[in-house]
Amino acid sequence: MPTPPQKDYYGTLGVKKTASAEDIRKAFRKAARKYHPDVNPGDKRAEEKFKEISEANDVLSDEKKRKIYDQVGFYSDQIDPATAEAYARAQREGTQPPIDFGGFDFSGFQGGPATQAGSGSSAWGSFKDIFSGIFTGAQHQEQPRGPQPGTDLEYQATVDFWTAIRGGQARIQIDRHEVCTTCHGAGRIGPEIQCSECHGTGQVTQMGGRMKFNITCPNCNGTGRVANLCPTCHGEGTLSRSETVEFRIKPGTRDGQRIRLQGKGNAGINGGPPGDLFLIVRTGTHPVFTRQGDDILITVPITVAEAALGAKVEVPTIDGRAQLKIPPGTQGGQKLRMRERGVESAQNPGQRGDEIVTVTVAVPHLNDERSREIMRELARLNPNDPRKALFEKI
Ligand SMILES: [Zn+2]
Ligand SMILES: [Zn+2]
Repeated sequence: MPTPPQKDYYGTLGVKKTASAEDIRKAFRKAARKYHPDVNPGDKRAEEKFKEISEANDVLSDEKKRKIYDQVGFYSDQIDPATAEAYARAQREGTQPPIDFGGFDFSGFQGGPATQAGSGSSAWGSFKDIFSGIFTGAQHQEQPRGPQPGTDLEYQATVDFWTAIRGGQARIQIDRHEVCTTCHGAGRIGPEIQCSECHGTGQVTQMGGRMKFNITCPNCNGTGRVANLCPTCHGEGTLSRSETVEFRIKPGTRDGQRIRLQGKGNAGINGGPPGDLFLIVRTGTHPVFTRQGDDILITVPITVAEAALGAKVEVPTIDGRAQLKIPPGTQGGQKLRMRERGVESAQNPGQRGDEIVTVTVAVPHLNDERSREIMRELARLNPNDPRKALFEKI
């Protein structure tokens, strides 16, 4: 049986298999000084040798690479440590390794008969070229074709300002994968016939460079028999469909809240359960009210007289009009709190937020002489400077 070409990295560096990292470092430096192209200008043999020791050092000086090399007999970036471990274990126990190197057909190799181990760099190069392909191929085949759960979906759902406060029904249009109604998710229909890819053998031959190797037929998963592809879903088992989903909004739902609709995500494959649909609620805005958690913010203008003398004014709340007491001497920008006039909390049932009123003072336009005279009179009676405190703080 042909085996993959191997390289004796330890021999190249002239160290034992048990060499420490320090031994390897020293051996490489010594050899590198001897064969470095700068020291041997124009010497092709030295250049080759330098490449070899560099490659050996690259693998042996890296703990992870060295372990894989020790286990498999060569190194490739495509071999993950778990595969190398499994391969080494199978070799020790004499069982079937996960990758059967002996199964490769090396007959197409340059030079006729099967290449023997360690017979040169050209063989190594070819092997390395196709190596990545073999491992990628193997990974694809290992994908199970059994039941797989559907994936979750996430959508943003904008909900009307009032619906978010009072609760109710809302709807959203989504695209989701549904089980194909023609094949009921199987992806195939009708009786099984001989697989056209492998002609019933369950194996197909792939070319890798000049080498041939057999892999399990991906069309029939090695069974040799397969039913026709479903014409509706082309074998997927699911179809993408636009759907309007209705969902319930709890009173007091806040912006950014997540709603989970179980089983409303994508359909599973081969009978797997569907995923979930997650909705992120975006609460709509209102021209007068602003929501801040369970509180409602509003800006309310009052007259100069109401601000100076105090008054009871009507302000809008989410329940309709309500009386707000303006204390005498209220300033523009002042915030007045109306307790429990906000939103009923979804988190803490029975609790309500507040309405927070920001007062602005509407200054009158004085268009007649009598009004202006009264204002001047008012100023004479109250000669306080509102900017005095500012200057005192400087
Ligand atoms: Zn097949
Ligand atoms: Zn189908």
